[in-house]
Amino acid sequence: MLQLNNPSLLKKSLFINGKWLKSKITTTVTNPFDNSTISTVSLCDKKQCNDAITYAQTAFKSWREFTAKQRSNLLYKWYELILANKKDLAQIITYEQGKPLAEALGEIVYGASYIQWFAEQAKRIDGDIIPPPNSDQRIACIKQPIGVVACITPWNFPNAMLARKIAPALAAGCTVVCKPSELTPLSALALTELSRQAGIPTGVINILMGDAAMIGKQFCASKIIKKLSFTGSTAVGKLLAAQCVDTLKRITMELGGNAPFIVFEDANIDSAVEGLMASKYRNSGQTCVCTNRILVQKPIAKIFKQKLIDAVKSQLVVGFGANKDVTTGPLINQQACLKVDELVNDALKKGAQIDYQDTTREGNLYPPTVLSNVSAQMEIAQQEIFGPVAIIIEFDNEQQALEIANNTDAGLAAYFFTQDYRRIYRVSEALEYGMVGINSGIISNEMAPFGGVKQSGMGREGSKYGLDDYLEIKYICLGGINS
Ligand code: ADP
Repeated sequence: MLQLNNPSLLKKSLFINGKWLKSKITTTVTNPFDNSTISTVSLCDKKQCNDAITYAQTAFKSWREFTAKQRSNLLYKWYELILANKKDLAQIITYEQGKPLAEALGEIVYGASYIQWFAEQAKRIDGDIIPPPNSDQRIACIKQPIGVVACITPWNFPNAMLARKIAPALAAGCTVVCKPSELTPLSALALTELSRQAGIPTGVINILMGDAAMIGKQFCASKIIKKLSFTGSTAVGKLLAAQCVDTLKRITMELGGNAPFIVFEDANIDSAVEGLMASKYRNSGQTCVCTNRILVQKPIAKIFKQKLIDAVKSQLVVGFGANKDVTTGPLINQQACLKVDELVNDALKKGAQIDYQDTTREGNLYPPTVLSNVSAQMEIAQQEIFGPVAIIIEFDNEQQALEIANNTDAGLAAYFFTQDYRRIYRVSEALEYGMVGINSGIISNEMAPFGGVKQSGMGREGSKYGLDDYLEIKYICLGGINS
């Protein structure tokens, strides 16, 4: 049972214009470990969705007038409250999403780091003074908030993905209407309750649950909403982008990946295995930057595979994330397990072999698996696996590794391990990805720009660039100086 020290964090309603609103239509939120019901939450109708957008517009008029320092102080207060309640927030994630408590705590601290970062960056939204082409003029550029922002977030990081969008929006002076995943709304609601307790004004943050397609359409069609920030699947991202054409909204999209993890023959094999364990198996393989394809150079393939199997066997414990020692929780639902099964079975039919598979298989728990003899053409190497299945593809030389790595429409994260400094430059420049980890399997933090190229999306979250998408540049020209 979910037992919070601060029960005020377990909210079940819509949050519109500073009020918790119940509705007649509800949905249940379940624990992916045993499919038990955790809570029911209210769903909005079209009118409530449009009301939230209108309230966000009203709030924008006053929020944008807050000084950067005032906005910063409020964000900082929110950040502190999140840290003070981190154990409860982590527990909510474990129950509704499935990841183990230690990982859930990591997500809370990671999500909060974006709020802290953008509290700092709020005060650095500087403009420019530009030398004019004639002496009679003066040119200035100022940056202004774009307006009301719509945020749609997925279930794999129910806290952090939302924090990573709301924080820069608020720092810039924008207000938000958000739709978290229907599978994991409780984390979003708890985060919102803390924003209320921190004193973030009425209407600045609005949270809606409901029919995703309906809410998506309302967001995209609204002329009030000036920007859509979406994290989720490439298919839904494309649909939303198409729906935004009519209003020519600015869009930021963090979509699916197909991360290669290349181990060159000159790599430190032990640290490559360590990096891979973190990059492949965290969140049971359900992150868009999780390693999808392991490319290993032939001379070290055998030893690498053995060390990987040893690590999987000795380190991973499958089970309910709230239980001590569990490292690998369930997949989000049965459908997710079936999809991973389908990919594995297809690969086996086409010649892949299972080198190792954990024996635990119950409910939505998917056993950590290592497959080899995989070819780059198999479905499992082309699609995002989103499960704890490591697939090994062998290669001969650097050129071939790069060809395989880049032969995908995705371009989010890539990793490689080598000790050759020349190769570090060559390969990191040649990889068609937005983020590259060299001798490191975990690379995301609030100070660095997170985002992809190709069909993995557009825009960057976090870092000094993360505010740009929420700002408009206004050019101001003053003439007649000498008259
Ligand atoms: P995933 O496969 O990771 O669940 P989705 O893209 O389906 O990724 O979901 C990400 C977010 O997009 C969720 O909040 C989901 O409810 C939302 N979503 C799904 N379909 C639509 C849609 N047609 N319009 C708007 N949002 C959608």
